[in-house]
Amino acid sequence: MKYIILNKFVYYTVKSNKLFFFDTLLKKHFLFEGKILASIFQNLTNPYVVELNKKTQNNREVLSFVTVIEENNMGYISNKEEFVFYPIVRNSAVRRNDLVISELTLHLKYLQKKENNTLYPKCKQFLYPKKSLRDNQLSLKAINKVVNLIFNKHLKINVIVTQYFFINNIEDIICFFDNLKISVNFYLTIDSIQFINKYYRNHFLYHILIDNPEQIKIINKTLNKENVKYIFITSSEIDYHNYINNASIFKLSNFEVKPYFNGLNLKFFQENVFNDVEDIISQDQTIYTILEKKYFSSLLYGKMIMLPNGEIYTNMNANSLGNISLINKIHKSLLQENNQTWYLSRNNLTPCSYCLFSELCPPVSNYELAMKTNNLCNVYE
Ligand code: SF4
Repeated sequence: MKYIILNKFVYYTVKSNKLFFFDTLLKKHFLFEGKILASIFQNLTNPYVVELNKKTQNNREVLSFVTVIEENNMGYISNKEEFVFYPIVRNSAVRRNDLVISELTLHLKYLQKKENNTLYPKCKQFLYPKKSLRDNQLSLKAINKVVNLIFNKHLKINVIVTQYFFINNIEDIICFFDNLKISVNFYLTIDSIQFINKYYRNHFLYHILIDNPEQIKIINKTLNKENVKYIFITSSEIDYHNYINNASIFKLSNFEVKPYFNGLNLKFFQENVFNDVEDIISQDQTIYTILEKKYFSSLLYGKMIMLPNGEIYTNMNANSLGNISLINKIHKSLLQENNQTWYLSRNNLTPCSYCLFSELCPPVSNYELAMKTNNLCNVYE
């Protein structure tokens, strides 16, 4: 009996008769094919120790596989069974009793702007106010209640602000965040740009949501501060070039481009947002961050959202969990592993579950949920 012993920084998947090997240190990848070869990876007790019997030892597919593995330092042949402490990632976050919410987003007020209804609202894709005909405002009492319950020293708080001048208790809300002594991120629509001058604090971060390149022209240059960042919401290449052009004219450097899917710009997404094999391979990830994608999406996990009417969500693409008045019950129910969005894994989604890249691919994000398509890639069409 012989054994293939794999190094533990190697990640691999077996689908049908194909094997995809990925060296997580050197970011090198290899594709092997063969029925016999694939069969020796079935039902392994330790996925990093592969037993070879007399027949498989001399099989051509297996021999050429072993040559590549040895030449690339991903493993070796041994005459005895060795124990490899192979990487195990458990969903420890799910199993512990003290649920930690890592990010709380508070929508202070609905967006009243008159714009056509869309099947693809921005708030379902990234941090942006939700449009509604209702005129609720989030009360300080509701904010206090949720923050007190979930507060931990790693908590990140986002506050989405639109038409701040109509928010009655805005001064008290700012004072509340001042006293928390943690960094708070404000996301402001362009009509609330003066909010920064009025409530400027060094320990707050301000993100200005820019809907079109023309809006750059009305930005006051005094806002070119270190803790002020611009988010250019982009739905086409023309938009993108105009943003870059105007940013250069108005000397804005602290910006990020956020793609927006409006239902009509799939081509823009396919060309600029969808992942290619190269994007997937070149991501900065370790064997552990790859394996944790079996259990949850790090882009969605631990997030909680409260809308101006006090409704609580874990994701803007999911149903409400209930009102703030039920926050203790909601918090307890989150422990019961029944929150679908937090635990989304490509292993359970079609067609990703059939794809050799499933765990290598970036975690499921809001874009997949909002666009109702799991394979935002140019790999599996
Ligand atoms: S099909 Fe899914 S797992 Fe495969 S490359 Fe596309 S997005 Fe990634």
